[in-house]
Amino acid sequence: MNSIHMSAECYPVAKVGGLADVVGALPKYQNKLGKKTGVVMPFYDNKFTQQNSFRTDHNSQVDLGDTSYDVEVLQLTNNDLGYPLYTVKIPGLLDRENVYGYEDDTERFVAFQKATLNWILQFEKKPEIVHCHDYHVGLIPFMMSKAHKYESLKNIPTILTIHNAQYQGQFSFEKLHYFPAYDLSHSGLLEWDQHINPLAAAVKSSWAVTTVSPSYLIELRSAANGLEWLLDNEKGKSIGILNGIDTDVWNPATDPMISKNFNGRNIVSGKRNNKNYLCDKFKLDPNKPLFAFIGRLVGEKGAELLPDIFKKTLENKSTDASILVLGSGDPAIEEALRSLNTAHKGNYNTFIGYDEQLSHIIYAGADFLVMPSRVEPCGLNQMYSLRYGTIPIVRSIGGLKDTITDIQEENGFGICHEHTTIEDATQAIERACELYHNQTRFKKIRKQIMQIDHSWDSAASNYIELYQKLIEK
Ligand code: ADP
Repeated sequence: MNSIHMSAECYPVAKVGGLADVVGALPKYQNKLGKKTGVVMPFYDNKFTQQNSFRTDHNSQVDLGDTSYDVEVLQLTNNDLGYPLYTVKIPGLLDRENVYGYEDDTERFVAFQKATLNWILQFEKKPEIVHCHDYHVGLIPFMMSKAHKYESLKNIPTILTIHNAQYQGQFSFEKLHYFPAYDLSHSGLLEWDQHINPLAAAVKSSWAVTTVSPSYLIELRSAANGLEWLLDNEKGKSIGILNGIDTDVWNPATDPMISKNFNGRNIVSGKRNNKNYLCDKFKLDPNKPLFAFIGRLVGEKGAELLPDIFKKTLENKSTDASILVLGSGDPAIEEALRSLNTAHKGNYNTFIGYDEQLSHIIYAGADFLVMPSRVEPCGLNQMYSLRYGTIPIVRSIGGLKDTITDIQEENGFGICHEHTTIEDATQAIERACELYHNQTRFKKIRKQIMQIDHSWDSAASNYIELYQKLIEK
């Protein structure tokens, strides 16, 4: 392998959000471009690992303070993903069903990072680039450059890609003994706000920082959950590279998860068939414009406003729309969204939970996708939505700003609003209804958006260019 991606998530092995989609697709496209790239991630005890076979690549041990854990690095036997996939199994720490949400997440990810570096240490041919994704692997660049044990890795360039700066993984300096020995004068590289902050450490220690859209990079300088100054200070080594989408997985012409495959030529019958299927499933009227939301029910997505946005829309007789929600997250938001079911039966429905197939069915069957995000590092939903002929309604922020142009602009194809407020979002939905009732324009835009190319081809080469620059440094 010339380069190696390190991540807590990777689709289809383990997915919580967009991070998995990116790490699952980018290496495949890099390999297509002739760059040998692999992925290393934790081995979770989930459906994917139970249903696939792995072979042992390496056995070792990792210490965490006084405790020592067995480590087994396992490689996925088949090459269906399009790149080699390695998983680090640490019984007692990592082999659980979920990716995050355990009290000992700090211990789990520190152990994963040390075990991964121990594995790389014994490679005969070291990778030319180590590419780290988000805070869960944010201590890698520090350990590679400063820990005595990993001295032989210190000239390998490291990249941090920030998918979400909201989560930083802070923990107390009382856990410093988890670290491999290093010259303590470098402790400042780990510290932010009197804590060990893995994301800040990665920003400081990696050779380059990328964000998943150009606008997000700029926005982080004024809103980065406490790291604004640091990100502004490190702007010289930072670059925004817009994510792509895996057009093999997200292709309405071949997607096995949707009711009827379609392409730009049979879009009218294809969308109608998928909408009928979806409306039938959720007892909605297929003759009304169908608005959908898919995502994590958290403040970043503006999700706590959704119940009011939807209530206002449903009570507005002139819009006469149907709404469908797929999401999970904050229990209070889940409950507030669910509670609209009774009053608006027939026009509104929810699926609270995570369901990959249902997300495909919704992208294929809805008319519009609503994204009133407060923060959106890149956003993949709007790109999937475009590809499936579903018009996105977005708040212009981060990657949404970089990918969606309002219909009022020349060649515009989406509906944009300025603020994450109930008023802005409901007005945007009203504008969408007007568009829906002008079926000629609506269908023209729907056809236009399916042609927009957001495949990984160009984004993957942007990363390769960056790798090359760092290698030549
Ligand atoms: P984030 O990573 O911030 O959650 P992204 O837009 O980058 O947001 O990626 C979200 C990904 O997760 C998309 O693939 C989306 O379809 C998927 N997703 C989010 N919530 C759900 C859910 N409840 N069920 C199925 N897929 C979901």
